Amino acid sequence: MIDIKRNHSLKKHNSFLFSYKAQFFCEVHSEEESHEFINFCLKKNLPINILGEGTNVVITKDIKGGVIKISIPGKKIIGDEIIIGAGENWHETVLWSLQNSLYGLENLTLIPGTAGAAPVQNIGAYGEEISSRLICLEAINTKSNELISVKNDECDFSYRDSKFRKDNDLMIVSIKLGLTKEANTNTTYKSLNQFLINDDIDPTKATPNQVCRAVNSIRTKILPNHKKEPNVGSFFKNLVLNEEAFEDLNKKLNDVPFYKDSNSSRFKVPVAFLIEKAGWKGKRIGKVRVSEKHALILIAEESTSEDLINFSSLMVNDISKKLGVDLEIEPSIF
Ligand SMILES: Cc1cc2nc3c(=O)[nH]c(=O)nc-3n(C[C@H](O)[C@H](O)[C@H](O)COP(=O)(O)OP(=O)(O)OC[C@H]3O[C@@H](n4cnc5c(N)ncnc54)[C@H](O)[C@@H]3O)c2cc1C
Repeated sequence: MIDIKRNHSLKKHNSFLFSYKAQFFCEVHSEEESHEFINFCLKKNLPINILGEGTNVVITKDIKGGVIKISIPGKKIIGDEIIIGAGENWHETVLWSLQNSLYGLENLTLIPGTAGAAPVQNIGAYGEEISSRLICLEAINTKSNELISVKNDECDFSYRDSKFRKDNDLMIVSIKLGLTKEANTNTTYKSLNQFLINDDIDPTKATPNQVCRAVNSIRTKILPNHKKEPNVGSFFKNLVLNEEAFEDLNKKLNDVPFYKDSNSSRFKVPVAFLIEKAGWKGKRIGKVRVSEKHALILIAEESTSEDLINFSSLMVNDISKKLGVDLEIEPSIF
């Protein structure tokens, strides 16, 4: 039997701690409970919003309709594949895979949130993205209440994007990932490579556990803890520019850092660099500020979503004027 709460505060369910309410709120622990709540919403013709741990959303108003909080558990190993319930914590999943000598997720350690949300924005860090491990997933279509299977090549994965960001009718129930029993670590990401060298570890021989520990140490040092300083990680996506746009930017700022795949003609530019160059790192207006540790992170303490959105608009406009590039917000706006 599901527990549907009316006018329920979402303060504990989003890392910015914005205290808007959901008209109908239900935490689900299984596929069956999900069907039951979706059915309740469908009968009342209510829109449905999906929440995991709320570490990548900005809630800007009371939510009319249903909010379904995904707490579906489950961890299963089949050979070198794992099936994970959408409500499992992602970081715990990474540690559990390593404990079971299954490798491939070590670069993605310490990313907050649930396993079910991971494919939504194709989580990535330190040179890896979940899209390279996801085999398929199961999701419920919240319009028809039917369970469907979605294969990797149907997810439209790209940088911090997937079909689930555009089609928010699909509620992910579980994900299946392909890992390896042999260690084959990716340590090419510059700061990871350097960290290992400084720690007297040959990056070409680093074990998955060493990579995991290194990523943990780097992240703990450079990222503010969202449980102490309310944030959603990167507030803006890095820029992906064609050659002409990159050259234009490089004329304004010398030595713009970039990353380029050997098979791509596009330049990925770290927006943290641009924010810093435009003078926004550490800047504060009222209770909203750009983190002093990491220029991509906006921290909003005891403030409103209006303060945050106004702050980010000022940043976007100023950086557009100074550097001629348009920043794109990464988290979902509810
Ligand atoms: C300190 C910090 C560091 C971070 N670092 C990184 C990083 O390195 N790399 C990175 O990629 N991200 C990073 N993030 C962002 C965040 O961790 C990820 O986006 C994460 O996947 C969000 O999970 P969540 O459960 O909190 O999702 P939520 O914030 O609850 O939801 C995010 C979006 O996914 C949708 N959603 C959630 N669950 C489901 C589901 N089961 N089915 C369908 N849709 C769903 C929601 O509707 C919403 O649109 C960081 C965040 C913080 C706070």
